[in-house]
Amino acid sequence: MKKEIKKSLIDRLDSGPVICAEGFLFEIERRGYMASGEFVPMVALDRPDVLESLHRDFQHAGSDIVQAFTYNGHREKMKIINREHLLEPLNRSALKIAKKVADDTPDGQEKNLMAGNISNSNIWNDKDTSQNHEVRKMFDEMIGWAVDEDADILIGETFYYAEEAFEALRSMKKSGLPCVITIAPMGENIMRDGVSIIDTCKELEQLGGDVVGMNCFRGPNTMMPYIKKIRKAVSCHVAALPINYRTTRSNPTFFNLPDHNGCSCPSPHKTPFPTALDPMQCNRYEIGKFAKDAYNIGINYLGVCCGANPMLIRQVAESVGLEVPASKYRENMSKHMLFGTDNRIPKHQIDYQDLA
Ligand SMILES: [Zn+2]
Repeated sequence: MKKEIKKSLIDRLDSGPVICAEGFLFEIERRGYMASGEFVPMVALDRPDVLESLHRDFQHAGSDIVQAFTYNGHREKMKIINREHLLEPLNRSALKIAKKVADDTPDGQEKNLMAGNISNSNIWNDKDTSQNHEVRKMFDEMIGWAVDEDADILIGETFYYAEEAFEALRSMKKSGLPCVITIAPMGENIMRDGVSIIDTCKELEQLGGDVVGMNCFRGPNTMMPYIKKIRKAVSCHVAALPINYRTTRSNPTFFNLPDHNGCSCPSPHKTPFPTALDPMQCNRYEIGKFAKDAYNIGINYLGVCCGANPMLIRQVAESVGLEVPASKYRENMSKHMLFGTDNRIPKHQIDYQDLA
């Protein structure tokens, strides 16, 4: 079969916004196919139909990239849940599902890119480097499977050690594929090995990152200040994929975000993270504003991480001027039973608006 030539990631970014849905972990957990806390994407093996459906929903909502769901599908996590023997099957299944959906992009849409994915290993340690060579091996094996399964690009994400991100990018670059690399600094607002957020991104650009930026841990309020600085500090394309939660200056990430919303049944855990964050979610307009503001300062790679759902991805896409398949179902309040303006809405309903 003749291989179809897809428009490259960089060509797409050079000519406008590119949308990438992430945050599959929370969304699959919410749909009932993943154990919270454990957070391993066994869904790729247990219920490939569910994972395929998730990708199709995000594609319909405007995602230009189908990112294989291999986040936490690495050797270390598989060891923790005693499933190391399923490491390669899980990775290959997730990649094949992503490829299938990308190849099935509906007519009229630019063909989706399929992305292989690596992420934070959790064993990288700048103080005791004895296990860091294991991390390199984990990156290399996952990238090998992604290349094998015909990924169009690679995404390395959610790194909170600068050196781990550098190492990930070095592994990714060996593939020759376009590389997106995004960091996720913890609440100290600096990488855990002491490198500043901006210096980390500058170095990632020097190492050949095609797109550098931030994803996860931070909501719009605490990601935007850094995104602005990154945009000024690098000349490559910049990525911004916040979580969908109202993080604050005193709690810049969702890990320690308190619930001040009158919760009557607190989380059984130390913090609302990860199972009781619901009341701190952003609404769609906050996410849309973030995307628009970011796009206006020259950030063309946009998406949402944890807390993402298809409705929010549509909001991101529409906020930067895109029409997507799900735009067919965008809000239409003129037809609402109380708040509508259509001539058929009865007067006794409209008059009741303020009492409802
Ligand atoms: Zn996330």
